[in-house]
Amino acid sequence: MQKASMELLWKSSHISGGNAGYVEDLYETYLSDPNAVPEEWRNYFQQLPRVSETAIRDIPHSPIRDHFAHLAKQQLVRATSSTSTDFSDHERKQVRVIQLVSAYRQRGHQEAQLDPLGLWQRPGVPDLELQYHQLSEADYDTVFQTGSLYIGKDQATLREIYDSLRQTYCRSIGAEFMHIVDTRERAWIQQRMESVRSKPEYGFEARSHLLERLTAAEGLEKSLGSKYPGTKRFGLEGGESLIPMMDAMIQRAGEYGAKEIVIGMAHRGRLNLLVNILGKNPAELFDEFEGKVKYQGSADVKYHQGFSSNVMTSGGEVHLALAFNPSHLEIVSPVVEGSVRARQDRRNDPIGDRVVPIVLHGDAAFAGQGVVMETFQMSQTRGYKTGGTVHVVINNQVGFTTSLQEDARSTEYCTDVAKMVQAPIFHVNGDDPEAVLFVSQLAADFRQEFKKDVVVDLICYRRRGHNEADEPSGTQPLMYKQIAKQKSTRELYVARLLDEGVIDQELADKMAADYRQALEDGEHVAKSLVKEPNTELFVDWTPYLGHEWDVAGDTSITAKELKDIAEAINHVPEGFSVQRQVAKIYEDRRKMAAGAMPINWGFAETLAYGTLLRAGHPVRLTGQDVGRGTFSHRHAVLHNQNDAGRYVPLQHISESQPAFDIYDSLLSEEAVLAFEYGYATTQPKALVIWEAQFGDFANGAQVVIDQFISSGELKWGRLCGLTMLLPHGYEGQGPEHSSARLERFLQLCAEHNIQVCVPSTPAQVFHMLRRQVVRPLRRPLVVMSPKSLLRHKEAVSTLEELTVGQFQNVIDETDDIDMSKVTRLILCSGKVYYDLRAARREHGKDSIAIVRLEQLYPFPYDDLRNVIAQYPNLKKVVWCQEEPRNQGAWYNSRHRMARVIRSFKPEKNLLLGYVGREPSASPAAGYMALHLKQQEEFISQALKL
Ligand code: AMP
Repeated sequence: MQKASMELLWKSSHISGGNAGYVEDLYETYLSDPNAVPEEWRNYFQQLPRVSETAIRDIPHSPIRDHFAHLAKQQLVRATSSTSTDFSDHERKQVRVIQLVSAYRQRGHQEAQLDPLGLWQRPGVPDLELQYHQLSEADYDTVFQTGSLYIGKDQATLREIYDSLRQTYCRSIGAEFMHIVDTRERAWIQQRMESVRSKPEYGFEARSHLLERLTAAEGLEKSLGSKYPGTKRFGLEGGESLIPMMDAMIQRAGEYGAKEIVIGMAHRGRLNLLVNILGKNPAELFDEFEGKVKYQGSADVKYHQGFSSNVMTSGGEVHLALAFNPSHLEIVSPVVEGSVRARQDRRNDPIGDRVVPIVLHGDAAFAGQGVVMETFQMSQTRGYKTGGTVHVVINNQVGFTTSLQEDARSTEYCTDVAKMVQAPIFHVNGDDPEAVLFVSQLAADFRQEFKKDVVVDLICYRRRGHNEADEPSGTQPLMYKQIAKQKSTRELYVARLLDEGVIDQELADKMAADYRQALEDGEHVAKSLVKEPNTELFVDWTPYLGHEWDVAGDTSITAKELKDIAEAINHVPEGFSVQRQVAKIYEDRRKMAAGAMPINWGFAETLAYGTLLRAGHPVRLTGQDVGRGTFSHRHAVLHNQNDAGRYVPLQHISESQPAFDIYDSLLSEEAVLAFEYGYATTQPKALVIWEAQFGDFANGAQVVIDQFISSGELKWGRLCGLTMLLPHGYEGQGPEHSSARLERFLQLCAEHNIQVCVPSTPAQVFHMLRRQVVRPLRRPLVVMSPKSLLRHKEAVSTLEELTVGQFQNVIDETDDIDMSKVTRLILCSGKVYYDLRAARREHGKDSIAIVRLEQLYPFPYDDLRNVIAQYPNLKKVVWCQEEPRNQGAWYNSRHRMARVIRSFKPEKNLLLGYVGREPSASPAAGYMALHLKQQEEFISQALKL
């Protein structure tokens, strides 16, 4: 290479990066006419690799492009090197050294010693070999620039560089972070790991504390194993490092000023965490094993129980809450996030400094369950972010009996899903407690620094079967042969500390004996537990305890208050350009407030929020398209047509009002609903609503409905005032957009666990939403909410109905009919009422009354009885529904209706009948014509036309 040409290239900054294209153009010109380029370039191009004339024309660029790229790198080397004179050779090697550093950062984890059992067989990684980069041991003593490698000096021998890379990236920690696009984050991780070669020097105190925590982890399992052999406890044996890990993370978060930490985890290791970290009294746990506990409701098994306590950290007292958790493993993650967000909102902590989520996962579930992805997807969104979550995977390398590598996933690691949000992932060998400690602190620090998710993959093993009654070697013979030989994490660490002269055997034995003794004495064994916790760190739920669904709650409001609120929520700021139809809606609302127009659904609902906000209750409303509402009735968020700015009138009622949070959700149901459940179980003061785009979208969140919403209070004593708005109604929109699957909710009803309502007027939705907060009862409210009724001319209310009324569980006939003439009473819920009434009016059927059941559960027996009792000549009551017979309310409510009807015996012998669509496998007809035909038939039948 001629020096003049090289100089020319270096002088031309355009050789590197995007400007390489300029040189390529020049080269193309040269190919067609060598004299058309400047002489220096011509000289240079003549020296490039020779290819035949035709080949050049066919494949002109690739070797040349490589060559240019290479030159560009040399230019870089030159810029960073000040000592070398032999740049062409040394500089080339320098580039390779930099490539070597990059390769280790990228792929060092693939050669890290991560498996405590030593069974992993991973293919070699060529990029990590010196030879791959055209370097060799002969270069070991050559000095190179260290570039961005953080080893405390600008230059080092290749040997030193290579050693530091292997030590940093290929020992007990495998770090994946090069997928992160943010340079600052990558550099931060590099700096933290490389500066200590991923192995900081821990002093005696830290190391003996580590050993003590490991001793506790092992000690508890040993004790439970010997006291209750064969009893299911989902022991932590093999993953004991989890305890020092959690201890370190909690302490670190506390140091940073966290006041609350919410933890979610599945069953493995839960008892250990409860006792050794959260400070549950071991005596209580023993009582649970011995079946001596008093329980409330239907209760739950001990390894699903949540717990609350306060612990001391160097940053002050921290409240810990372990979320209750069903067996459906990963679903607790979004619940935890919701709970954390509620606490952050309560503390006015939008950054997430004061409340930290730590979520523990199992390897198989983390790789397998879609809700993990949904939860990650929420992590940086406006409505759901919590300032980053520390995720810990307890990776015991087997999913119940399923071998992970072959059957349980297609990804390299069980944690690969986390890359979608560019979370760094630290794999760590669970049998190296100091590496575990380092990674725990690193993860907590990363979350604190960047407010993003971070994952620690604690690679360990499961000493026993899936549970203590399960034999694992039938399905995992080789793994369990190795496990049988494997010394425990504690034993290995004791040996290491003895070897290094840090402790003596006596100290190790004393730690174990002290722990055993404390357990036997029934003492608390979580060292940092605060015995008299500061109760201000969490919410007082006592005002909400012990109420039943019929507890009083006055939802009326003065006309003056309503007027003031209406004024605020109908106001659009000067200069804010609202879209034409939206402007009309707001114009109409002003007329409604003035009494010049009847009140429609959208306004009544908005007024309900306004009144609650004014009374000091925060309101949170999320779901798909909630800002506008699926059917455009709400328009709670205004969008400026000129600059896309947003204005939310409900956020401008008064200076001192609480938050009105309204967020269109990501297109998830499962994680989003679970999040809102978590939120509502943490914030009793607020009205928390999840609205589905269409009611049956809730199907995608069935696990949340079954395992939390409908049963959480009975299993765990956790109250929840969550409201679900589920659009429901048969309007010919086909199978998927008609039904919110009312029957499913009714089937879940027992012990007054939830409320199921079908409001049919704006006044009813106003009072129902207010009632949900005004009453001290906190119980889930499932609402079959309307679609076409949102605009139905007769589904309107008066101002007076809002100010003086209450929610009516049953609405009696409203037309002016002679009650003594009524022989047939049609009982119904929802939109079908308006269809029935129109047909009755049309046909002048004045012997028929139509009564609406607005609350299907808890069933309003007395209200219904009182209504029916007013009709002296009644012969028959028919339940009329628009859903097919096997769906809707009929099968799950008819025994309740029958009970009311039977109660008139012997004076009256009333009959109960059904009218509605025929049983159907699908929720609704796909063709409008068929839908209308079915409707006409059952309406005629109901009215005996
Ligand atoms: P936490 O902040 O979740 O640890 O809760 C602190 C305490 O508040 C718990 O120990 C319970 O006594 C009570 N608590 C929290 N959430 C609920 C709930 N949803 N229902 C009833 N009590 C609750």
